[in-house]
Amino acid sequence: MSRCYNFSPGPAALPESVLEQARDEMLDWRGSGMSVMEMSHRGKDFTAISEKAEADFRQLMQIPDNYKVLFMQGGATAQTAMVPMNLLRSGQSADYIDTGIWAQKAIKEANKLGANIRIAATSESDNFMKVPSFDTWECDSDAAYLHYVSNETIAGVGFNWIPETGGVPLVCDMSSDIMSRPIDVSKFGVIYGGAQKNIGPAGITLAVVRDDLIGHADQAIPSVMDYAVAAKSGSMYNTPPTYSWYLAGLVFEWALAKGGLAAIDALNQKKAAKLYDYIDNSSFYSNVVSPESRSLMNVTFLLADDSLESEFIKQAVDNQLVNLNGHRLLGGMRASIYNAMPEAGVDALIAFMKEFERAKV
Ligand code: PMP
Repeated sequence: MSRCYNFSPGPAALPESVLEQARDEMLDWRGSGMSVMEMSHRGKDFTAISEKAEADFRQLMQIPDNYKVLFMQGGATAQTAMVPMNLLRSGQSADYIDTGIWAQKAIKEANKLGANIRIAATSESDNFMKVPSFDTWECDSDAAYLHYVSNETIAGVGFNWIPETGGVPLVCDMSSDIMSRPIDVSKFGVIYGGAQKNIGPAGITLAVVRDDLIGHADQAIPSVMDYAVAAKSGSMYNTPPTYSWYLAGLVFEWALAKGGLAAIDALNQKKAAKLYDYIDNSSFYSNVVSPESRSLMNVTFLLADDSLESEFIKQAVDNQLVNLNGHRLLGGMRASIYNAMPEAGVDALIAFMKEFERAKV
């Protein structure tokens, strides 16, 4: 068997030991005589799996008791609709920070559901290559919430700080940097993210919602999109994606065994620093993101001669380094180095980049 280093932005690489455990438990989960895929979501075995996963996630993220963890479906994209549906009452406005493509998708969805969606800050004048500095934000202290994207996965632009919003609930799309470092959950009203980067396989979506933001919608919400229904039913109003939930649970156990989010953060910082340092010291590769806004999860880079891009990608694949192409909207290269990417994968990428440069210059 030969596994490559997979730099995909998501669905992304999973820890190998998690995949091995899932394989070993595939046909008979711990003496139950069946696969997790075949279990009733209301039976005692799956109840044990789901409850352990939530408890481990709470421990990892240090989630206070006055927050619900909701295991939902529809990806982060569904959350961009659920947030205004659940939090925005008629006559209220909501503030959004425009940091690029994912923020804009959230804004577009919110505009379908709310009459008064404000852009409180944008980095358009910087071509979205940095997060807007806080002194440019024009926030409304009466807003129902303020929404931002902590890591713009496509451009590789991220926040290294948490905005201070006073009493306005802070809502964060954390899809691509959730669980990458410790955060103070108590600063947020809602945190949401699709699983397929740092949590597990696609199909399950996590929303961490503060209790006082649940159940106050003044419009009819479809049941599967209602935080109150999800909270009341323990995320089992309808059949949840049970296998994704189970695998997410294995990833949480793996992350705890690695030493939790502080240890994971230290490794993530080391991996990203190695790659950015190499790029910064080369005239063959470049990264155009403002240094203070560089993502630790998605490292984007350009080749000085862009006609070499397809050859770079091809040779990388020959070297077992896959999915390095940038997003179709931006071009260039992107190495996504989420929690499950070992340091050895980053070292192998740098060694390949060096060799490619040497052969071409
Ligand atoms: N927000 C961000 C920051 C993302 O990276 C993505 C997916 N790459 C999404 C939202 C959309 O997520 P999903 O496909 O889970 O709906």
